Amino acid sequence: MMKVLERFFNYVKFDTQSKSDVDDYPSTAKQFDLLNFLKKELDELGIKNELDEYGYLIGRIDSNIDKDVPKLALIAHVDTSPDASGKDVKARVIENYDGSNIILNEEHNVILKPSVFPSLKNNIGQDLVVTDGTTLLGADDKLGVAEIMTIVEYITNNPEYKHGEIVILFTPDEEVGNGTKFIDMKKLNADFGYTLDGGTVGEIAYENFNAAGARVTIHGKSVHPGSAKDKMIHSVNVAYEFDHLLPEEKRPQHTENYEGFNHLITINGSVEKTQLIYIIRNHDRDLFEEQKEEFINASELINKKYGDQSCILEIQDQYFNMNEILKDYKYVVDIAINSIKEEDVEPIIEPIRGGTDGARLTYLGLPCPNLGTGGYNYHGPYEYASIQEMNKAVEIVKRIITKTTEL
Ligand SMILES: [Zn+2]
Repeated sequence: MMKVLERFFNYVKFDTQSKSDVDDYPSTAKQFDLLNFLKKELDELGIKNELDEYGYLIGRIDSNIDKDVPKLALIAHVDTSPDASGKDVKARVIENYDGSNIILNEEHNVILKPSVFPSLKNNIGQDLVVTDGTTLLGADDKLGVAEIMTIVEYITNNPEYKHGEIVILFTPDEEVGNGTKFIDMKKLNADFGYTLDGGTVGEIAYENFNAAGARVTIHGKSVHPGSAKDKMIHSVNVAYEFDHLLPEEKRPQHTENYEGFNHLITINGSVEKTQLIYIIRNHDRDLFEEQKEEFINASELINKKYGDQSCILEIQDQYFNMNEILKDYKYVVDIAINSIKEEDVEPIIEPIRGGTDGARLTYLGLPCPNLGTGGYNYHGPYEYASIQEMNKAVEIVKRIITKTTEL
């Protein structure tokens, strides 16, 4: 039986960094190196599987009980963030961590400090996996991949362990927001699932933002500045006016927890034309709709003042809070929370101030919260993972599988 850690070390050797703004899918062909490796591992374990042209690897384990129970999907992504290199990762283990600073890279003075990353204080006495300070670690989400593969091997080696039908899904391009773009839900054919793509073990996330994007185009009137009096309409000034019509307390720098925000991402323009790009976020659907209403009101006011068509507003919904659907599938959250508690871990339930592939899958018909894997500080050289927590995460999912047989 291969340990989670061994698998994890094998997987981080593959550079699977994804890339934004490219037409290819998956965004980088090198993601197939790991996907093919995983396919081979599934083959060797005797698991039916299929890797498609888009980079979705789906494995399927038949039920070994007589009862009909919901089909469970376990999901992780193989790509790593474009924010930091994932090439030549040199992972190493700090045994029995004593709470002091960890020098990741002497030459470049990269130090993992509990004063900067207080989560380290909860890892005292544990064995930690860290980087050499020049790359990310890849715990996001190769830890999820390693944990799932460990469970698959356990199921294969322990025929007396009871389980319903289990579907394994490894996806590409999660980090560039396209992890579910070409997923074939019919082929996936599962009833509920979990993404193993969280932070500390015990974390369960089933609430995320409702999300929309807004593009505001302001048309001004250009006149020679020498003779502009009462004639020129400067679209940049009107754009500022538009922005000030939105509530200031709803800017990201003033919000936390369940508070939604409107975030001005870019503003670009000159006298004739200015464009503002916003994202709109709120966990609560009604408040989310209200925020969109505020954009509509602001654009109407601008048009009233400067003439029709001086402000063109386009709003596009991006994704929705998965809890709106999950609240009708209470068992999905409940069996996870109970499994966490039975492993003597305190469940950590916090709203995600972002989106997840689980949210998109939930809206595609697969209720899918996200579970912690035992990794920290994702997307950079300070990323680390706890070996005790990764083993716990495996035990928690084993319990979830057992509870599924009782549904
Ligand atoms: Zn991730």
